[in-house]
Amino acid sequence: MAVEQPNLLVAERFAIKLERIVGKLIFFHHRNTKVSGLARRRMPLLRDYLRLMSNPKKHRRAKPFRRQKGQQDSVRAAVGPVAVVEVRMPAKWTEDDEKIREALLSALAWPSERLGEFRVQRKNLDARQREVKAVWTMEAAERGAKLPIDTPATVSFDPLPEDAKRVHIIGAGPAGIFAALQCILNGSRPVIIERGQPVRQRRRDLVQIFREHTVNPDSNYCFGEGGAGTYSDGKLYTRSHKRGDIRAALELLVQHGADEDILVEAHPHIGTNKLPGIIESMRETILEAGGIIRFGCRLLDFKSSDGSVRELTWLDLDTQIKCRESCGHLILATGHSARDIFHLLHEKGLQLEAKPFAMGVRIEHPQSLIDEIQYRSKERESWLPPASYRLVCQASGRGVHSFCMCPGGIIAPCATEDGEVVTNGWSPSKRNNPFANSGMVVQLMQEDWEQHGHTGPLGGLLFQSTVEKACWKAAGETQRAPAQRLVDFLKGIQSKDLPETSYVPGVVSVNLHEVLPPLISKALREGLQTFVERMPLFMSEQAVLVAPESRTSSPVRIPRDAESLSHPELRNLYPCGEGGGYAGGILSAALDGIRVADAAEKST
Ligand SMILES: Cc1cc2nc3c(=O)[nH]c(=O)nc-3n(C[C@H](O)[C@H](O)[C@H](O)COP(=O)(O)OP(=O)(O)OC[C@H]3O[C@@H](n4cnc5c(N)ncnc54)[C@H](O)[C@@H]3O)c2cc1C
Repeated sequence: MAVEQPNLLVAERFAIKLERIVGKLIFFHHRNTKVSGLARRRMPLLRDYLRLMSNPKKHRRAKPFRRQKGQQDSVRAAVGPVAVVEVRMPAKWTEDDEKIREALLSALAWPSERLGEFRVQRKNLDARQREVKAVWTMEAAERGAKLPIDTPATVSFDPLPEDAKRVHIIGAGPAGIFAALQCILNGSRPVIIERGQPVRQRRRDLVQIFREHTVNPDSNYCFGEGGAGTYSDGKLYTRSHKRGDIRAALELLVQHGADEDILVEAHPHIGTNKLPGIIESMRETILEAGGIIRFGCRLLDFKSSDGSVRELTWLDLDTQIKCRESCGHLILATGHSARDIFHLLHEKGLQLEAKPFAMGVRIEHPQSLIDEIQYRSKERESWLPPASYRLVCQASGRGVHSFCMCPGGIIAPCATEDGEVVTNGWSPSKRNNPFANSGMVVQLMQEDWEQHGHTGPLGGLLFQSTVEKACWKAAGETQRAPAQRLVDFLKGIQSKDLPETSYVPGVVSVNLHEVLPPLISKALREGLQTFVERMPLFMSEQAVLVAPESRTSSPVRIPRDAESLSHPELRNLYPCGEGGGYAGGILSAALDGIRVADAAEKST
């Protein structure tokens, strides 16, 4: 769920109440009859009018009310033996089947005896009003009629023939895994080369980060089976609009053990405790069909001639033996943290582009405080999930926004080598930790890192690395992270002490204005000030900034042809997922993996 801070004017709240009363009157009057377009439009006009009275300047810029595509008419009776309606009901009703039925009947404007089977297509929450509303899209059939079958598809991954063509995939993150599954469906044998360890073994290396403050450069929070998203909140949102593709990718996750709820939740997430099992199950599917996975193998180099990659060289990290293999198709799905790969491509003189990205800090509050802000109540009711937020504003001429918010989560140490500190966040499926953390980041452009002397396509990457090293130094050259209370950050003074945080390696009090580049800390201060003005409770003594949040997205783009999806200079090299700059999360990386596997198939 991502609920926005409402900030409704008093007059608007009054208008909403009035609308509801007027709406009910119209509803009762016109129940089971057709309502004219004018009557249907009257309610929003009333709200608009009151908005105008309370804030005429703002309203002048507002767009006139238009019916939204797909918006349901709760007054006119739904027609047809199967109907789809939007049902708005108090969130607490979702715990009571009778109440759900009642709300559905009211939205359909059907008498009780007309309603047969029904189900939820999409679940959302609207916390903009004092009473939190569940907003469900529901499908209902008349008694005697049947709802169309809607069980998640199960894809069968048949064993590959002996002579199946090989496709090499570097990286077993979401992009690499979904590319491998798609290769199998296309009849090709995926050969995955992954520098990290299988998902369970990877855990031992994560523990070393907490206990020993040492980072294994091949197995950590970013590297290893499942990629960067394995020990994450497992949020599965994407800005992609190809709903069919999204549904297919989500169904594949369900087929491998994810809860079916992800198919209906508007903001689905899986949770760190469940992701490893799903990833293992996908691995089994790949292996059973005849795919090959080589863990603990780091791609070192490749040879190319006549515009094609011909041979790969990787290091077997166990034996320290360099292995070579000829290569027909290379899907490069190495993620945004594989700096060695960016350097390798750059050294080979291949085209790369600097890409805007964002950097800043993680901010952490008690979860109860975020619940109080969003639900306007000291205690979160049992029917409400731990609240999240999404914040965005302009500060010092650049965008400042929250990023990858983890309700009930933990701040994770995500460095990929010693000598740097990197943070990100994860949550268990129940999101039941006492803290809420989120990235709070500032948009950066090429001219920003050029000002700091970092030029060329890898300029952003070098700047990112400088900030991570500065944070490591400032906090004592371990995996402890530099931190500051929000209150003190806004005043520009070092905190005398720090509140308890979820960051297990520990935090060290510093003045972040002296550690982060001024262009970041200045915009961050302005942005946070704006957010505090919008949500005064956000400014809590318990709120703490932990730095840096630096790996939001790739600072480099590996270009590819829009049609063939291959690199302009190497026709069988397919940059894929977040590392290439073609995804910004688990689901979009997975979708890109599927696309690229199809493109590789088409080229043969
Ligand atoms: C802690 C954390 C929490 C996150 N939470 C979320 C979330 O809730 N929702 C969300 O959508 N996104 C989240 N993300 C981001 C998400 O994980 C990434 O967007 C996604 O994993 C990108 O997928 P990918 O397959 O492109 O790359 P990656 O997942 O980065 O996978 C790349 C893989 O390539 C391997 N590799 C790298 N170099 C080499 C090499 N030289 N040889 C062999 N193998 C190599 C790596 O080991 C890695 O396994 C989170 C990230 C982190 C770190």
